[in-house]
Amino acid sequence: MKEIKGNGLFLFDMDGTLYLGNRLYDFTNELLATIRACGGKYMFMTNNSSKSVADYIKKLSNLGVDSCYEDFITSSQATAYYLKKHHLGATLYVCGTESLKKELRSQGFAISDCLDEIDVIVMGFDTELTFKKLEDVSKLLLTRPDIPYIATNPDYVCPTEFGSVPDCGSVCDMLCNVSGRRPVVIGKPEALMPQLAMEHTGYSADNTLVVGDRIYTDIKSGIKAGTITALVLSGETTREILDASQDKPDYVFESAKELISIIKKDC
Ligand SMILES: [Mg+2]
Repeated sequence: MKEIKGNGLFLFDMDGTLYLGNRLYDFTNELLATIRACGGKYMFMTNNSSKSVADYIKKLSNLGVDSCYEDFITSSQATAYYLKKHHLGATLYVCGTESLKKELRSQGFAISDCLDEIDVIVMGFDTELTFKKLEDVSKLLLTRPDIPYIATNPDYVCPTEFGSVPDCGSVCDMLCNVSGRRPVVIGKPEALMPQLAMEHTGYSADNTLVVGDRIYTDIKSGIKAGTITALVLSGETTREILDASQDKPDYVFESAKELISIIKKDC
């Protein structure tokens, strides 16, 4: 059994793990304080590319959790990192929110709506989606079959208070119906976000724990990155889903609250 160390790196999914919608779980602040007190480090890891880190700092602050820029690893940041590595200096067509565009611009990328200038297409969770953007991306995919095509996250839906809305993966399916093409995916369940977090903080995979409420995104990204994994049953996943899944986490907790005593024991 891989051992959870109090002074390790904790990569937390947010919704369903630390809060549910707009309700903070009652243990979250104690858990984060315990990790800090024991010399560990935590980061919040999210696939949602519609919000900037500044938006998330504000959201957590409204829920009563203090955070700063360095506490986050988002699919927008990971996408910027991937683009720097593979498409440095590229001009991007971004089918995403102004927040995503701002993040990519801040990392030195040019963004254009002029299709002749485009080197790479980037799809995000676009809560500002228009038909014009779908038309532009269709045109790029059909007229330039080899153009690099990247998506920040593969999620089909994003939870809302009334159920859910279509997320990046659903829009990519629409474009696949047009072009037959599927994008390179950056966020969870791929390994890039946990890998980046480890690279930035200097922790090794055997001293890093990925904690989340979804097996097919959170847990899978941890497995692919070689970290320790903990599934929490405080969100989307039930025991039945867990039993039916091929991918098994190292640990299963009713909620992330159970980590507090484990960390304290090792402190
Ligand atoms: Mg979640």
